[in-house]
Amino acid sequence: MKSDLCPFEEKTYASVTSGVWPEALRAHASDCPECRDTVLCGRTLIDLAARPALPVDPPVSAGVIWVRAQYAQMQRRISRADLVLLTGSLGTTIAGIAGVAIWRWDIMRQWIAAVAQSTGGSFLLYALIATVAVGLYLFEETFFPGR
Ligand SMILES: [Zn+2]
Repeated sequence: MKSDLCPFEEKTYASVTSGVWPEALRAHASDCPECRDTVLCGRTLIDLAARPALPVDPPVSAGVIWVRAQYAQMQRRISRADLVLLTGSLGTTIAGIAGVAIWRWDIMRQWIAAVAQSTGGSFLLYALIATVAVGLYLFEETFFPGR
């Protein structure tokens, strides 16, 4: 079986790694395409090996991975329960406020007018902004990291 490799390729590689070049081999390596590739690859590998190693983070222990997995699983359970609880309490609160507002609309209208008059309307605006901000905070993705 005939090999496509140059018979001098191993000697060429040995010369690249040792730095000792017989003149006949140097002349052959400059003409032979396989040996030129061997020289190029060998020098590249030597250059890479001479460079300082890149900083690598130390591996995380199995115990830390286990604790993180347990914590993430616990967060998923808590977040589902929190979502149900939050949705229920928010719905109950909105229904209660709406019920009181409808039941005692005359008093509510007077109270809203009194608050708006005493604060120049700014209190109601701030209350609306605060309500929207709290609602967005509670429903943002980071509040329920397990989802
Ligand atoms: Zn060759």
